[in-house]
Amino acid sequence: MSHFVIVGGGLAAASAAETLRAEGFDGDVTVVTREAHAPYQRPPLSKGYLAGAEGLDAVIVHPEEWYADNAIDLRTSTEATHLDPEAHTVTLGGGENASDTAETLHYDKLLLATGASSRMLPIEGADLAGVHTLRTLDDSDALAAVLRHGGRSLVLIGSGWIGMEVGATARTLGNSVTILEREAVPLAVAVGPEMGRVFQALHEANGVDLRTQVNVERIVGRGGQVTGVVVDGETVPADLVLIGVGAVPALELATDANLAIGNGVLVDAALRTSAPDVFAAGDVANAFHPVVARHQRSEHWANALNAGPVAAKSMLGQRVSFSQIPYFYTDQFDLGMELSGYPSLMAEAKLHVRGDVAGREFIAFWVDHGRVVGGMNVNVWDVNEQVQALIRSGDVVDLAALLDPNTPLERLLA
Ligand SMILES: Cc1cc2nc3c(=O)[nH]c(=O)nc-3n(C[C@H](O)[C@H](O)[C@H](O)COP(=O)(O)OP(=O)(O)OC[C@H]3O[C@@H](n4cnc5c(N)ncnc54)[C@H](O)[C@@H]3O)c2cc1C
Repeated sequence: MSHFVIVGGGLAAASAAETLRAEGFDGDVTVVTREAHAPYQRPPLSKGYLAGAEGLDAVIVHPEEWYADNAIDLRTSTEATHLDPEAHTVTLGGGENASDTAETLHYDKLLLATGASSRMLPIEGADLAGVHTLRTLDDSDALAAVLRHGGRSLVLIGSGWIGMEVGATARTLGNSVTILEREAVPLAVAVGPEMGRVFQALHEANGVDLRTQVNVERIVGRGGQVTGVVVDGETVPADLVLIGVGAVPALELATDANLAIGNGVLVDAALRTSAPDVFAAGDVANAFHPVVARHQRSEHWANALNAGPVAAKSMLGQRVSFSQIPYFYTDQFDLGMELSGYPSLMAEAKLHVRGDVAGREFIAFWVDHGRVVGGMNVNVWDVNEQVQALIRSGDVVDLAALLDPNTPLERLLA
């Protein structure tokens, strides 16, 4: 009997396992995650789950019984510590709570869905109690324990998606929030300065103290507990500090196995790594995208959701190609946003807006030589499919019609 092993405890792992059984694979399946929980999705950890508005059921993809019901051997609290592609073996050591006895499994096909970890900031005071990062359910629980009842001071270092989302959630819960950012505009790397300013204005309107172009010097504390962050000589008081300066792909196993690596595990469009019978999907994979004809690594929920099934089909020997348009969403205060587009093409494109930017109800389009290469709908709903269709078509569009809120987007699609 064939044995497929999936290493990872996130959405890519869960969606791949689900697809293997949905496609009728009746061999052995083992899912190995070093966390104590069944594989889960992370977006609620900075939003509804952190706020206490959503429970574990919004986070865990399938309860543990689902794995048993589908004859999938789920190994929680178990870390894969060594991968030998030549021998087709993976060694499992102890995980968070398990004992350290190692076990070696033989596999026929293996999927690396090891995701990413929070980037650490090499800064004095980062090891004080009360200084956090946010990647796991346990991280979110630890933040919630302090923020849930309001009245605390949170300092966020970094104004990326995680910093901005946690800032919005913490402020909504009645905490005081300061965000410290080195660059001139938050989120400029993701959406450009003009759109970044939309999020900046949103936070300022909701009472967040968002300071840009600042230099964080060190984190300070008393008796081992954080009390503040020193920024340009001033100490900002803090009960809690969250470092949100990005994520790095979890490459330990891939490096150990000598797989080809470059900003993630390099995979082709069928999500095959450089080693036979080893695949990679989700945040850890830097996949060749057939449309933009280059590798791109996407750290987004929809990427994990959709790449897992493609990897599973590829493991089953089906001819597949992962060609999804990158998609991201966020919710902050009363702003909901969806963003679709190819980052490499958006970087070269010009921004055009349909709707009311100041009123935060609009669609922004990134247009390159008359073609839409990215689109972001802000508090405008049920348009993401059309935005994606416009991007996919590659057609030159009528710009005046594109920017006219009275012209349905469908009309621009031939
Ligand atoms: C707080 C937060 C909020 C987010 N919000 C959004 C959002 O609003 N919209 C959006 O599009 N995206 C969002 N994201 C990004 C999205 O969650 C990620 O893109 C997604 O989690 C990637 O899934 P994955 O399965 O590839 O990896 P992960 O979810 O990182 O899962 C990888 C798992 O593998 C385990 N693992 C790693 N190495 C080993 C090993 N050697 N042995 C065993 N297990 C191992 C890890 O412990 C982890 O459980 C958010 C991320 C975070 C952290």
